[in-house]
Amino acid sequence: MAEIIENPLLFGVVGHPVKHSLSPQIHQAFATKAHLLLQYHSIDIEPNDFTTSVEMYKRQGYRGFNVTVPFKETAYQFANKKSERAKIAGSVNLLSFQQNDVMGDNVDGIGFIRDLMSNQKFSLKDKRILILGAGGAVRGIVFPILEQKPAYLHIANRTIEKAQRIAEKFKKYGSISISNLNQIPKQHFDLIINATSFGVASIDNIFPEHLFSKESCFYDLFYNIETTTPFLTLAKQHGATHLIDGLGMLVEQAAESFFIWHHIRPETDNVIRKLKNKEI
Ligand code: NAP
Repeated sequence: MAEIIENPLLFGVVGHPVKHSLSPQIHQAFATKAHLLLQYHSIDIEPNDFTTSVEMYKRQGYRGFNVTVPFKETAYQFANKKSERAKIAGSVNLLSFQQNDVMGDNVDGIGFIRDLMSNQKFSLKDKRILILGAGGAVRGIVFPILEQKPAYLHIANRTIEKAQRIAEKFKKYGSISISNLNQIPKQHFDLIINATSFGVASIDNIFPEHLFSKESCFYDLFYNIETTTPFLTLAKQHGATHLIDGLGMLVEQAAESFFIWHHIRPETDNVIRKLKNKEI
């Protein structure tokens, strides 16, 4: 009788660079808990090779990918079908290979909202919110933030035109004002979100002094399991105590990806704790 070989399900994350991604550990932890035979790989793709490489991995049996910098817009073009939230964001960070179709989705927004609202118990309703940055991640989080009916949302970015484009695109969902990073209104914000590359890239402090206050909550989309991120360190130096980094968002967006691919909703608190304690 022929030997039955159980092939693991093949998934991964594509980006450039991608080698420090925690997604393999997170998906592997979810799979172990769900008794699923899964292999999830970090795959570094050269910037011009996205389409040929992803097509090749698809032929090799990969069933889907998370997509990270710098490919979220390329992945949006690559997918021939898109979820509503991917269309609203105009970017894709999750690809699912179906029989004849490539389905694109964006789970950054849901990851952010679940971490902030469920894990951190922070309600956005009637809050004054400031987002620093206007890149791909911001396109994913603006709509779910506005859905929660904050008092208002201000977006500040080095390149004002990018903030302008986001404000134009999303203004039908809620009130958005914009400015350059050095012209942020001197007023109180309940929540200040860092979605710039500050922390990822070694760049000098790009934020005005008046931004930091004891009373605001600071959320850095960037994370570093070894230490406090540079943005949260700045906030801490100014006396702020309500500090959140992007690890929870990462795990929550991975959980949503896992649910879409395997129809199993994984528990996340255990995985967040284990990552923080370096147990996985
Ligand atoms: P992105 O599209 O490359 O956007 C980068 C942003 O940083 C832009 O607003 C850019 O401004 C700004 N920036 C870069 N260098 C700067 C400088 N020297 N001075 C001032 N502003 C500068 O990146 P992204 O995908 O939006 O990611 C942003 C951050 O979110 C990263 O830290 C990423 O790791 C994090 N993220 C985390 C998660 C998670 O699950 N935790 C998910 C997605 C993203 P310009 O427009 O002027 O270039």
